[in-house]
Amino acid sequence: MPMKIIEHFVNGINFPGMSKRTSKVFNPATGEQTAEVKLASVQDVDIAVQSAKKAFISWSNKSPLQRARVMFRFKELIEKNSEELTKIIVSEHGKVFDDAKGELTRGLEVVEFACGIPQMLKGEFTENVGTEIDSWSIRQPLGVCAGITPFNFPAMVPMWMFPMAIACGNTFILKPSEKDPSCSIKLAELFTEAGLPDGVLNVVNGDKEVVDAILTNKKVQAISFVGSTPIAKYIYENSAKNEKRVQALGGAKNHCVVMPDCDLDQAVNGLMGAAYGSAGERCMAQSVAVAVGNIGDDLVSKLSKKVDALKVGPGMDKNSEMGPLVTKEHLEKVRGYVDLGVKEGAKLVVDGRNIKLQGYEKGFFIGGCLFDNVNRDMKIYKEEIFGPVLSVVRAKNFDEAIDLVNKHEFGNGTSIYTRDGDTGRTFASQIKVGMVGINIPIPVPVAFHSFGGWKRSLFGDQHMHGPEGVRFYTKLKTITSRWPSGVRSNPEFIMPTMK
Ligand code: NAD
Repeated sequence: MPMKIIEHFVNGINFPGMSKRTSKVFNPATGEQTAEVKLASVQDVDIAVQSAKKAFISWSNKSPLQRARVMFRFKELIEKNSEELTKIIVSEHGKVFDDAKGELTRGLEVVEFACGIPQMLKGEFTENVGTEIDSWSIRQPLGVCAGITPFNFPAMVPMWMFPMAIACGNTFILKPSEKDPSCSIKLAELFTEAGLPDGVLNVVNGDKEVVDAILTNKKVQAISFVGSTPIAKYIYENSAKNEKRVQALGGAKNHCVVMPDCDLDQAVNGLMGAAYGSAGERCMAQSVAVAVGNIGDDLVSKLSKKVDALKVGPGMDKNSEMGPLVTKEHLEKVRGYVDLGVKEGAKLVVDGRNIKLQGYEKGFFIGGCLFDNVNRDMKIYKEEIFGPVLSVVRAKNFDEAIDLVNKHEFGNGTSIYTRDGDTGRTFASQIKVGMVGINIPIPVPVAFHSFGGWKRSLFGDQHMHGPEGVRFYTKLKTITSRWPSGVRSNPEFIMPTMK
């Protein structure tokens, strides 16, 4: 059978593009190649941007209510096709079915939020800012916006971006991860079926060459990026250089602080899901557990039993709790970090490196790994591993735990387990991290709040979706007006002020 080819989606239809370059797409559970994805050329990107620029003229002039109606139909189609979309995610990413469904739902919630765009674009009005002078502010769309997304949330992260941008009246170029691009194509097809005019949402597949073509394209007004920190920084710098608005979300090393007074079983269950869910390939994964005071031994003992018992298997098997990693290269990288941790002197309490699954010998599997006695000088503490590896760091007291979190270069998410309100409140107030959970292991903000980290987890100043999303995808205009009858005053040469 000929290999499946994944094309681009431009101007409302599948688009093969001119480029002959391709990249391989795998099923991570079997390790088999399932498709070739086309990698666009600069010319292909240009065709997509031209189509988005043309579509902007009429789409931006539609009333917010008309745009919302298309959103409502898109929401219905996502719900109707959720089974198929979920299977697509599992087949290219590898995460377990229910987790894939969860990410799709989180993306759908942004579409639901975007259905309320008429309310969010209402603007502000002040009567009589001066004598018989009124002033109002409106938010207008930017033009062609682009989104560049990572492999780990092939549905949710693109849906943090394009529904918001499009509801605000922009048109969009989406460049999904070349590792799992099919979900984005399916979403664009469904949006078109919902009545979205051709050219409003385009999907261009590719790698660095395509990203650079987007960054340097003069017609693209704004870039939303989610991915690793070095690339986020590159996107931030080059967007600024090319005079584009930018939000670039990067990597993470999220700490979960476990206080001695907490409900330990709650904390352990929370940590298990947060560290090993999606095989640790989440930007909000808790990869460091900070055991405060004397709780460390009990924490490690309870965790190790559960990590040992983790059910690792293919994502489509309903019994699996954790699927494979996304690629062979990523598997080798994660294994390399576990080797390094042992060399650095951390205690490997559970070693998942040699797991073998019958019938899936070529899949990209690794079992859950648990390290104890990790310290702040180790590379496995400083760097993002992005796999099912949890490091336990011991801290003498609450202040030392706060210091650890605040001194880390990343500041995406963090959480604390405690029964003490004062400790929880102090933590939320003093911690230098963008998203904080109190007895909540993965504090991902819902669609009507905004998602984003601090420090080297986000370059730029606006977070994704929610009110910040509306601000990012619109520019502010303030109008001041008076309707005088006849000439009422002489020329004034001083700065007008209210008397
Ligand atoms: P990545 O940085 O390798 O890739 C992200 C995107 O950038 C992809 O579309 C990719 O094609 C493109 N890209 C890769 N190399 C490039 C280069 N040299 N120049 C230009 N573009 C390039 O990230 P990934 O491995 O796909 O995703 C995992 C990373 O994403 C992790 O670091 C994770 O923490 C991060 N992430 C962050 C968030 C967040 O909200 N902060 C959310 C999800 C994932």
